[in-house]
Amino acid sequence: MTDPGGLERIDTSVAHPARRYNYWLGGKDNFAADRESGDAIAKIYPAIRTTALENRAFLRRAVEYLAKEAGIRQFLDVGTGIPTADNTHEVAQSIAPESRIVYVDNDPIVLTHARALLSSTPQGATAYIDADLRDPGTILADESARRTLNFDEPIALMLIAIVHFLFDEHHPRETVRRLVDALPSGSYVVMTHGTSDFVDPVLRAHGEAEIRAGRLRVDAVPRSKSELAVFFEGLDIVEPGIVPIVEWRNPVPEEDRPPLADAAMYGVVARVP
Ligand code: SAH
Repeated sequence: MTDPGGLERIDTSVAHPARRYNYWLGGKDNFAADRESGDAIAKIYPAIRTTALENRAFLRRAVEYLAKEAGIRQFLDVGTGIPTADNTHEVAQSIAPESRIVYVDNDPIVLTHARALLSSTPQGATAYIDADLRDPGTILADESARRTLNFDEPIALMLIAIVHFLFDEHHPRETVRRLVDALPSGSYVVMTHGTSDFVDPVLRAHGEAEIRAGRLRVDAVPRSKSELAVFFEGLDIVEPGIVPIVEWRNPVPEEDRPPLADAAMYGVVARVP
Protein backbone atom coordinates (compact mmCIF):
# COMPACT_ATOMS: atom_id res chain seq x y z
CA MET A 1 0.00 0.00 0.00
CA THR A 2 1.43 3.40 -0.89
CA ASP A 3 1.40 5.72 2.09
CA PRO A 4 1.28 9.43 1.35
CA GLY A 5 2.58 9.93 4.92
CA GLY A 6 5.83 8.45 3.68
CA LEU A 7 5.96 11.07 0.94
CA GLU A 8 5.53 13.92 3.38
CA ARG A 9 8.41 12.68 5.51
CA ILE A 10 10.93 12.46 2.67
CA ASP A 11 13.86 14.84 3.16
CA THR A 12 15.66 15.32 -0.14
CA SER A 13 18.26 17.70 1.32
CA VAL A 14 20.34 15.06 3.08
CA ALA A 15 21.73 11.77 1.79
CA HIS A 16 19.86 8.64 2.85
CA PRO A 17 21.43 5.16 2.73
CA ALA A 18 18.49 3.57 0.86
CA ARG A 19 18.54 6.20 -1.90
CA ARG A 20 22.33 6.28 -2.14
CA TYR A 21 22.40 2.49 -2.47
CA ASN A 22 19.71 2.76 -5.14
CA TYR A 23 22.00 5.23 -6.97
CA TRP A 24 24.96 2.84 -6.81
CA LEU A 25 22.77 0.04 -8.14
CA GLY A 26 21.81 2.24 -11.09
CA GLY A 27 18.28 3.02 -9.87
CA LYS A 28 16.27 6.20 -10.35
CA ASP A 29 14.88 6.72 -6.85
CA ASN A 30 17.52 9.12 -5.56
CA PHE A 31 18.11 12.85 -5.20
CA ALA A 32 21.07 15.23 -5.66
CA ALA A 33 22.20 14.88 -2.02
CA ASP A 34 22.23 11.07 -2.35
CA ARG A 35 24.23 11.23 -5.58
CA GLU A 36 26.72 13.69 -4.10
CA SER A 37 27.27 11.47 -1.07
CA GLY A 38 27.44 8.39 -3.32
CA ASP A 39 30.02 10.05 -5.57
CA ALA A 40 32.10 11.24 -2.60
CA ILE A 41 32.30 7.67 -1.32
CA ALA A 42 32.98 6.32 -4.83
CA LYS A 43 35.85 8.80 -5.19
CA ILE A 44 37.58 7.31 -2.15
CA TYR A 45 36.41 3.75 -2.81
CA PRO A 46 35.65 3.31 -6.53
CA ALA A 47 34.54 -0.31 -6.04
CA ILE A 48 31.45 0.70 -4.05
CA ARG A 49 29.13 -0.07 -6.99
CA THR A 50 30.64 -3.53 -7.37
CA THR A 51 30.15 -4.00 -3.63
CA ALA A 52 26.46 -3.04 -3.91
CA LEU A 53 25.88 -5.46 -6.82
CA GLU A 54 27.73 -8.29 -5.09
CA ASN A 55 25.71 -7.66 -1.95
CA ARG A 56 22.48 -8.14 -3.95
CA ALA A 57 23.94 -11.31 -5.48
CA PHE A 58 24.70 -12.62 -1.97
CA LEU A 59 21.12 -11.83 -0.89
CA ARG A 60 19.78 -13.91 -3.77
CA ARG A 61 22.10 -16.86 -3.05
CA ALA A 62 21.31 -16.77 0.67
CA VAL A 63 17.53 -16.74 0.08
CA GLU A 64 17.90 -19.56 -2.45
CA TYR A 65 19.89 -21.58 0.07
CA LEU A 66 17.31 -20.97 2.79
CA ALA A 67 14.30 -21.76 0.59
CA LYS A 68 15.80 -24.75 -1.25
CA GLU A 69 18.20 -26.37 1.17
CA ALA A 70 17.06 -25.24 4.61
CA GLY A 71 13.32 -25.43 3.88
CA ILE A 72 12.66 -21.93 5.23
CA ARG A 73 9.24 -20.49 4.38
CA GLN A 74 9.21 -17.34 6.52
CA PHE A 75 11.46 -14.28 6.26
CA LEU A 76 11.82 -11.16 8.38
CA ASP A 77 13.80 -8.78 6.16
CA VAL A 78 14.98 -5.76 8.16
CA GLY A 79 16.58 -2.96 6.11
CA THR A 80 14.69 -3.80 2.95
CA GLY A 81 15.86 -0.96 0.75
CA ILE A 82 14.07 0.47 -2.27
CA PRO A 83 12.67 -2.45 -4.27
CA THR A 84 14.93 -3.57 -7.10
CA ALA A 85 15.39 -6.85 -8.98
CA ASP A 86 15.15 -10.08 -6.98
CA ASN A 87 13.60 -8.83 -3.77
CA THR A 88 13.50 -11.40 -0.97
CA HIS A 89 9.85 -12.39 -1.55
CA GLU A 90 10.39 -12.80 -5.30
CA VAL A 91 13.36 -15.12 -4.84
CA ALA A 92 11.73 -17.09 -2.01
CA GLN A 93 8.31 -17.38 -3.68
CA SER A 94 9.85 -18.44 -7.00
CA ILE A 95 11.11 -21.50 -5.11
CA ALA A 96 8.28 -21.90 -2.57
CA PRO A 97 5.17 -19.86 -3.51
CA GLU A 98 3.75 -20.27 0.00
CA SER A 99 6.62 -18.22 1.50
CA ARG A 100 5.66 -15.41 3.86
CA ILE A 101 7.79 -12.29 4.13
CA VAL A 102 7.72 -9.29 6.45
CA TYR A 103 9.75 -6.31 5.30
CA VAL A 104 10.96 -3.62 7.72
CA ASP A 105 12.65 -0.31 6.94
CA ASN A 106 12.73 3.08 8.65
CA ASP A 107 13.14 5.22 5.53
CA PRO A 108 9.94 6.90 4.29
CA ILE A 109 11.08 6.47 0.68
CA VAL A 110 10.96 2.70 1.11
CA LEU A 111 7.48 3.04 2.59
CA THR A 112 6.29 4.84 -0.55
CA HIS A 113 7.47 1.81 -2.56
CA ALA A 114 5.82 -0.71 -0.29
CA ARG A 115 3.27 -1.63 -2.97
CA ALA A 116 6.03 -3.30 -5.02
CA LEU A 117 7.03 -5.31 -1.96
CA LEU A 118 3.50 -6.49 -1.33
CA SER A 119 3.13 -8.23 -4.69
CA SER A 120 2.86 -11.66 -3.10
CA THR A 121 1.86 -14.91 -4.70
CA PRO A 122 -1.72 -15.85 -3.71
CA GLN A 123 -0.38 -18.84 -1.71
CA GLY A 124 2.08 -16.72 0.29
CA ALA A 125 1.94 -13.34 2.00
CA THR A 126 4.00 -10.20 2.37
CA ALA A 127 3.75 -7.27 4.76
CA TYR A 128 5.64 -4.05 5.25
CA ILE A 129 6.43 -2.39 8.58
CA ASP A 130 7.70 1.17 8.86
CA ALA A 131 9.97 0.64 11.88
CA ASP A 132 13.51 0.96 13.17
CA LEU A 133 15.95 -1.88 13.80
CA ARG A 134 17.07 0.00 16.91
CA ASP A 135 13.61 -0.62 18.33
CA PRO A 136 13.26 -4.40 18.02
CA GLY A 137 10.34 -4.48 20.47
CA THR A 138 8.16 -2.54 18.02
CA ILE A 139 9.04 -4.94 15.18
CA LEU A 140 8.27 -8.00 17.27
CA ALA A 141 5.00 -6.61 18.62
CA ASP A 142 3.78 -5.37 15.24
CA GLU A 143 0.33 -6.69 14.45
CA SER A 144 0.95 -7.30 10.74
CA ALA A 145 4.24 -9.07 11.52
CA ARG A 146 2.38 -11.33 13.96
CA ARG A 147 -0.37 -11.92 11.42
CA THR A 148 2.03 -12.71 8.58
CA LEU A 149 4.64 -14.80 10.41
CA ASN A 150 4.11 -17.72 12.74
CA PHE A 151 6.73 -17.28 15.47
CA ASP A 152 6.41 -20.97 16.38
CA GLU A 153 7.86 -21.97 13.00
CA PRO A 154 11.40 -21.22 11.73
CA ILE A 155 11.98 -17.70 10.40
CA ALA A 156 15.00 -16.31 8.57
CA LEU A 157 16.01 -12.93 9.96
CA MET A 158 17.61 -11.04 7.09
CA LEU A 159 19.99 -8.24 8.07
CA ILE A 160 21.51 -7.43 4.71
CA ALA A 161 23.70 -4.34 4.59
CA ILE A 162 21.99 -2.72 7.58
CA VAL A 163 23.90 -3.54 10.77
CA HIS A 164 26.85 -1.37 9.73
CA PHE A 165 24.49 1.61 10.10
CA LEU A 166 24.33 0.87 13.83
CA PHE A 167 27.21 2.45 15.70
CA ASP A 168 28.34 0.79 18.91
CA GLU A 169 26.33 3.29 20.96
CA HIS A 170 23.20 1.80 19.36
CA HIS A 171 24.14 -1.56 20.93
CA PRO A 172 23.89 -3.56 17.70
CA ARG A 173 24.72 -6.90 19.33
CA GLU A 174 22.00 -6.59 21.96
CA THR A 175 19.56 -5.38 19.30
CA VAL A 176 20.18 -8.34 17.03
CA ARG A 177 20.07 -10.66 20.02
CA ARG A 178 16.60 -9.36 20.97
CA LEU A 179 15.32 -10.35 17.54
CA VAL A 180 17.13 -13.70 17.47
CA ASP A 181 15.76 -14.58 20.91
CA ALA A 182 12.23 -14.24 19.51
CA LEU A 183 12.92 -16.89 16.84
CA PRO A 184 12.30 -20.60 17.40
CA SER A 185 14.91 -23.31 17.00
CA GLY A 186 15.67 -24.01 13.33
CA SER A 187 15.47 -20.34 12.42
CA TYR A 188 18.29 -18.55 10.62
CA VAL A 189 20.10 -15.23 10.80
CA VAL A 190 21.60 -13.83 7.61
CA MET A 191 23.89 -10.83 7.66
CA THR A 192 26.11 -8.85 5.34
CA HIS A 193 28.26 -6.14 6.84
CA GLY A 194 30.82 -3.66 5.53
CA THR A 195 34.43 -4.27 6.48
CA SER A 196 37.81 -2.74 5.77
CA ASP A 197 39.58 -6.07 6.49
CA PHE A 198 40.47 -6.64 2.85
CA VAL A 199 40.72 -3.06 1.65
CA ASP A 200 44.17 -1.95 0.56
CA PRO A 201 45.90 -0.29 3.58
CA VAL A 202 46.89 2.76 1.52
CA LEU A 203 43.32 3.28 0.31
CA ARG A 204 42.06 2.73 3.83
CA ALA A 205 44.49 5.26 5.35
CA HIS A 206 43.50 7.78 2.66
CA GLY A 207 39.80 7.28 3.44
CA GLU A 208 40.40 7.65 7.16
CA ALA A 209 42.34 10.87 6.59
CA GLU A 210 39.49 12.27 4.45
CA ILE A 211 37.03 11.46 7.23
CA ARG A 212 39.23 13.10 9.87
CA ALA A 213 39.60 16.17 7.66
CA GLY A 214 35.81 16.40 7.43
CA ARG A 215 35.81 15.96 3.65
CA LEU A 216 34.00 12.64 3.82
CA ARG A 217 30.98 12.07 6.02
CA VAL A 218 30.40 8.49 7.02
CA ASP A 219 27.18 7.09 8.35
CA ALA A 220 28.34 3.48 8.55
CA VAL A 221 30.87 1.61 10.66
CA PRO A 222 33.01 -1.14 9.12
CA ARG A 223 33.61 -4.12 11.40
CA SER A 224 36.27 -6.81 11.41
CA LYS A 225 35.63 -10.52 11.20
CA SER A 226 36.22 -10.98 14.93
CA GLU A 227 33.84 -8.12 15.75
CA LEU A 228 31.20 -9.78 13.60
CA ALA A 229 31.75 -13.20 15.14
CA VAL A 230 30.35 -11.87 18.43
CA PHE A 231 26.91 -11.49 16.77
CA PHE A 232 26.82 -15.23 16.11
CA GLU A 233 27.90 -16.60 19.47
CA GLY A 234 25.69 -19.54 20.39
CA LEU A 235 24.47 -19.96 16.79
CA ASP A 236 25.57 -22.62 14.30
CA ILE A 237 27.32 -20.83 11.46
CA VAL A 238 26.57 -22.47 8.11
CA GLU A 239 29.54 -23.36 5.87
CA PRO A 240 31.66 -21.66 4.57
CA GLY A 241 31.45 -19.39 7.65
CA ILE A 242 31.91 -15.65 8.00
CA VAL A 243 33.48 -15.00 4.61
CA PRO A 244 33.78 -12.24 2.00
CA ILE A 245 30.38 -12.05 0.25
CA VAL A 246 31.84 -13.13 -3.10
CA GLU A 247 33.08 -16.36 -1.48
CA TRP A 248 29.76 -17.42 0.05
CA ARG A 249 28.40 -20.39 -1.97
CA ASN A 250 29.16 -18.57 -5.20
CA PRO A 251 28.77 -20.67 -8.37
CA VAL A 252 30.74 -18.03 -10.29
CA PRO A 253 34.28 -19.43 -10.78
CA GLU A 254 36.89 -17.69 -8.68
CA GLU A 255 38.68 -16.19 -11.68
CA ASP A 256 35.46 -14.49 -12.82
CA ARG A 257 34.68 -12.88 -9.44
CA PRO A 258 35.75 -9.38 -8.50
CA PRO A 259 38.77 -9.18 -6.19
CA LEU A 260 37.86 -9.33 -2.47
CA ALA A 261 38.83 -5.68 -1.98
CA ASP A 262 36.19 -4.69 -4.55
CA ALA A 263 33.33 -6.15 -2.51
CA ALA A 264 34.36 -5.20 0.99
CA MET A 265 31.64 -6.96 2.93
CA TYR A 266 31.35 -10.11 4.98
CA GLY A 267 28.42 -12.43 4.55
CA VAL A 268 27.18 -15.05 6.97
CA VAL A 269 24.27 -17.41 7.47
CA ALA A 270 23.77 -18.97 10.89
CA ARG A 271 21.20 -21.38 12.30
CA VAL A 272 19.47 -20.94 15.63
CA PRO A 273 20.06 -24.23 17.50
N1 SAH B 1 18.82 -5.06 2.39
C1 SAH B 1 18.86 -4.36 1.10
C2 SAH B 1 19.02 -2.86 1.26
C3 SAH B 1 20.30 -2.39 1.92
S1 SAH B 1 20.42 -0.61 2.04
C4 SAH B 1 19.99 -4.94 0.30
O1 SAH B 1 20.94 -5.42 0.88
O2 SAH B 1 19.95 -4.89 -0.92
C5 SAH B 1 20.16 -0.41 3.80
C6 SAH B 1 18.72 -0.24 4.17
O3 SAH B 1 18.63 -0.25 5.59
C7 SAH B 1 18.13 1.10 3.72
O4 SAH B 1 16.91 0.88 3.06
C8 SAH B 1 17.94 1.88 5.02
O5 SAH B 1 16.82 2.74 4.97
C9 SAH B 1 17.73 0.76 6.00
N2 SAH B 1 18.07 1.12 7.38
C10 SAH B 1 19.22 1.71 7.83
N3 SAH B 1 19.17 1.86 9.16
C11 SAH B 1 17.97 1.36 9.58
C12 SAH B 1 17.35 1.22 10.86
N4 SAH B 1 17.95 1.64 11.97
N5 SAH B 1 16.11 0.66 10.91
C13 SAH B 1 15.49 0.23 9.76
N6 SAH B 1 16.05 0.32 8.54
C14 SAH B 1 17.27 0.89 8.44
